[in-house]
Amino acid sequence: MLVRNATLPDGRSGIDLLVQQGRIAAVGPALAAPVGVSEVDAGGWLLSPPFIDSHFHLDATLSYGLPRVNASGTLLEGIALWGELKPQLTQQALVDRALQYCDWAVAQGLLAIRSHVDVCDERLLAVDALLQVKHQVAPYLHLELVAFPQDGVLRSPGAMANLKRALDRGVDVVGGIPHFERTMADGAESVRLLCELAAERGLRVDMHCDESDDPLSRHIETLAFHTRRLGLQGRVTGSHLTSMHSMDNYYVSKLLPLVCEAGVHVVANPLINITLQGRHDSYPKRRGMTRVPELLAAGVNVGFGHDCALDPWYSLGSADMLEVAAMGLHVAQMTSQQGMRQCFDAVTTNNARILGLDGYGLEPGCRADFVLLQARTPVEAVRLRAPRLLVVRGGQVLAQTPARQVQLQLPGRPQSVDFTLQT
Ligand SMILES: [Zn+2]
Repeated sequence: MLVRNATLPDGRSGIDLLVQQGRIAAVGPALAAPVGVSEVDAGGWLLSPPFIDSHFHLDATLSYGLPRVNASGTLLEGIALWGELKPQLTQQALVDRALQYCDWAVAQGLLAIRSHVDVCDERLLAVDALLQVKHQVAPYLHLELVAFPQDGVLRSPGAMANLKRALDRGVDVVGGIPHFERTMADGAESVRLLCELAAERGLRVDMHCDESDDPLSRHIETLAFHTRRLGLQGRVTGSHLTSMHSMDNYYVSKLLPLVCEAGVHVVANPLINITLQGRHDSYPKRRGMTRVPELLAAGVNVGFGHDCALDPWYSLGSADMLEVAAMGLHVAQMTSQQGMRQCFDAVTTNNARILGLDGYGLEPGCRADFVLLQARTPVEAVRLRAPRLLVVRGGQVLAQTPARQVQLQLPGRPQSVDFTLQT
């Protein structure tokens, strides 16, 4: 495949991209076409590496309304609701819903997902279902699974044993939820035990950490400490960290360098954080999302996750990482040119670093995974939730969407409109 006349995220335009044996063989202007290669005209639109979601829950997705909806809209009612639903789940229903979401993801140019899977269930039904899904989607979607003890690895009887069984069966990453343990001390102990387990097994860690409006929820400090102590730098992620929104500024000024020093990645989940946090507030209501620009400025790698779609915690969502980027941009007020661009990176390159993906990018030698967006720049893609004209993985076309076109019928005006509204 030879893609002609693309614009790249770094601003280069009129660029061709040659794909050979599933890899990018050459990138540059006016490349010579090898015999028999199929040419694709990018029409000057933006060619980006694919979207990556660093935080999702495939076991719960598309279950909205089962068995009822979340009336209070809080995280805690969502967890209780999920507990009501668990005994009714079947492996087939879990597989069907997850596959349906993965179809949707691919259509949106989302080609790698890190999904948490609840291990607080003796049957490990969701684990087996998502392992089956992981195997089934492997030809077109990179899916990695986190062993997530939703009800607390210490608080829920048998959870540690179940978590280990899930890892034995092939789940990739060690999860946790320290702020949901019974006490702060138990939360800290869970972080220690889970990081040691990951170190023993050579696995990565990704914990739901401090998903709370409680400014004294400081498990991220413990997570950074054990990451460094066990030499896990670059392999550990703190997801959510919403308590940081409410923390004392002086304490945060001490904390950020510790997170950076430990090489702990951070995932904010803008759609869900703005929905679930601040629910106990009257007015003013806190936004609850972690301190994204401050973390980035401190040198911490920050990605954005989608977290939920049509499940006990969130009644919307469409596997659209541009929607996630747009929400993050607004909630964090990242409206500078640099800030907007960082929000695009947070759903592409930053998330690729969190997952530790090999060969991600548009340089020669990288995997030929990319998405053609009907936009000219990354910021325009975020602003327009740009259509995904073409989605390619390993040089194979997986999905195509027609370009957006509008026919106008207005007196005294042109018949078509440039929907990109360029200035
Ligand atoms: Zn989550």
